[in-house]
Amino acid sequence: MTELLDELDAWLDANWDPDLTVAEWWQRLGTSGWAAPSLPTTAYGKDLSRADAVAVGQRIAAKGALGAPGGLGMLLAAPTIAGYGTTEQIERYIRPIVTGEQAWCQLFSEPGAGSDLAGLGTRALNDGDEWVVNGQKVWTSGGQIADMGMLIARTNPEAPKHQGITWFAIDMHQPGLVEIRPLREMTGRALFNEVFLTDARVRGDAVIGDVNNGWAVANTTLAHERSGLSAGGQGGVALANPGTIAGDLPKRAGDFVRARGPGAGGGGAMAAASQKMFIEMAKANGLIDQPTIRQALMKLHTLGEIGRYMGLRVKAEKAAGRDVPGAGNIGKLSMSDIVRQSRDVGLAITGPYGTLHAYDNESRKTLDAATGNPFLGFVTEMALFAQAPPIYGGTDQVQRNILGERVLGLPKEPNNDRTVNWSDLPKNG
Ligand SMILES: Cc1cc2nc3c(=O)[nH]c(=O)nc-3n(C[C@H](O)[C@H](O)[C@H](O)COP(=O)(O)OP(=O)(O)OC[C@H]3O[C@@H](n4cnc5c(N)ncnc54)[C@H](O)[C@@H]3O)c2cc1C
Repeated sequence: MTELLDELDAWLDANWDPDLTVAEWWQRLGTSGWAAPSLPTTAYGKDLSRADAVAVGQRIAAKGALGAPGGLGMLLAAPTIAGYGTTEQIERYIRPIVTGEQAWCQLFSEPGAGSDLAGLGTRALNDGDEWVVNGQKVWTSGGQIADMGMLIARTNPEAPKHQGITWFAIDMHQPGLVEIRPLREMTGRALFNEVFLTDARVRGDAVIGDVNNGWAVANTTLAHERSGLSAGGQGGVALANPGTIAGDLPKRAGDFVRARGPGAGGGGAMAAASQKMFIEMAKANGLIDQPTIRQALMKLHTLGEIGRYMGLRVKAEKAAGRDVPGAGNIGKLSMSDIVRQSRDVGLAITGPYGTLHAYDNESRKTLDAATGNPFLGFVTEMALFAQAPPIYGGTDQVQRNILGERVLGLPKEPNNDRTVNWSDLPKNG
């Protein structure tokens, strides 16, 4: 590891220049393999374990350089395409992801298919050398700034539901055919969207994996989602947004480098960073000696440590050629716990002020001035957002079902959806 980080340091010394544009810097970082080091060497990576890749991201941040492009392209599309794509697809799709040229969104969930994702109803019909797609997706994070979408759609309704799905790379720039409508959350932001697909086109060579084998491909995407969002998580992605729509590519790279707040480096690091902030807040509010606050802080610390140890255990097992079954699911559940505990301890320390929330930068300043607490906006934002991690990437209940059925070998809930064709199954919503 030391050797690897020395190599990275030398590369950064030779290449990082804050006066490059974001686009220029990400070209260098992406094509060198340091942007996505956990990808295979044949797909713009360095074949590193996730834990080592997190260390690389943290080192880039520690050296004061702008981190790799973040977003769902990097987290989900790139590793999925690296696993299932052809050499030509790796070049067409992964290169612009690691260089930040294109942003991606995930078009999986539908109004009637979330936990029961394999029940999805968006249809893709083959029309000569392209596919025509009709249907609706929902909760599409970053859809409004996405150039490309990971689309799963039904290509054979006359097969059991898991067997008639295909994974496509769809161009989101199709005015009138791909319509994106933002959904506002209680945080005040519009992170996610509804996406309506009306005769939208997908090129024939944009099928990732085989036609009707999309469920296996989608499960790979979901596995990467769980691990990436888990307590062992990712580290060191940039504050600049990738893609042609967000508008950050022509800006100066150095302007995006600043001290990162809690959240960098996965759940363990997030717990550690937010814990420091909470301790300072508790001291300032005269609460640091209160036993319940101390206990809540210790619980947060413990959860963070468990997440960190789990990451180390997975790394050690991988190095020995073994796996920890269900590690991704456990990590994602741990992340939910860390977020919930951060919400609770944050609100316990802020007391009644925690009922106040600022929805934009201007009102955040007013709130800071009125309460004398510069972290209040962060605490309430986190408290409102804390409901999301236990839902996205598969809810806590779904993670527990997977652990029960696939890891512990408990019997599945009885149903006939693996034998009856999708078209004959009762539909949600
Ligand atoms: C912030 C955020 C961002 C998101 N981003 C994206 C995105 O970019 N792309 C995308 O495709 N989706 C995205 N999602 C959607 C997310 O994947 C779904 O919300 C999630 O899978 C749950 O589906 P659902 O909302 O339809 O709830 P449902 O599936 O209707 O579940 C409702 C409740 O029933 C429970 N439940 C359902 N089935 C079972 C079962 N078999 N056993 C026990 N309990 C069960 C669930 O745990 C939940 O509590 C996002 C969600 C959030 C909150």
